[in-house]
Amino acid sequence: MNGHEAQPRERRIPKMSTSTQSSDVRLRAALEAGGQRFTPQRAAVFTYLVNTESHPTADEVYSAVQELLPTISLATVYKSLETLVGCGLAVKLTFADHSARYDGRTDPHHHARCLVCGRVMDLVGGIPEADIEPLRDEAAGFTVTGYRLELSGYCSGCLPEDGPAPALA
Ligand code: ZN
Ligand code: MN
Repeated sequence: MNGHEAQPRERRIPKMSTSTQSSDVRLRAALEAGGQRFTPQRAAVFTYLVNTESHPTADEVYSAVQELLPTISLATVYKSLETLVGCGLAVKLTFADHSARYDGRTDPHHHARCLVCGRVMDLVGGIPEADIEPLRDEAAGFTVTGYRLELSGYCSGCLPEDGPAPALA
């Protein structure tokens, strides 16, 4: 089993600039390993994604990348995002309401999601494997390869004034 221990990572300072050389080298190698070409559009989407902690929607990526590449289309942003996901350079987070957000952080970690505004934040901690084992034992006939943990609730900006709805029982 893997995928449950969130490692602390260095905070990266968000910036909108052309990609650094080392980031381009890494991107080019990963794209080519996945049978994809390096393009300025994919580079701009990738650079934005790895430098933000906001887990943006495709629309949000589009707005941000337009500042750098004014002629880029939403369709190209969508396709670039899917290409990055296909090459293991980004993670697509899908939700029950069929919305999707993208994460430039590909190491195992978990998320908290606001029920009101949809914001997604990284969780610092994980769950010890010993606490997952009992769940696996109950999943008879199922081979567990990982798990996804999502805390739901209210971000600081969306917490109702009369307090949160009933918490976990
Ligand atoms: Zn919120
Ligand atoms: Mn994340």
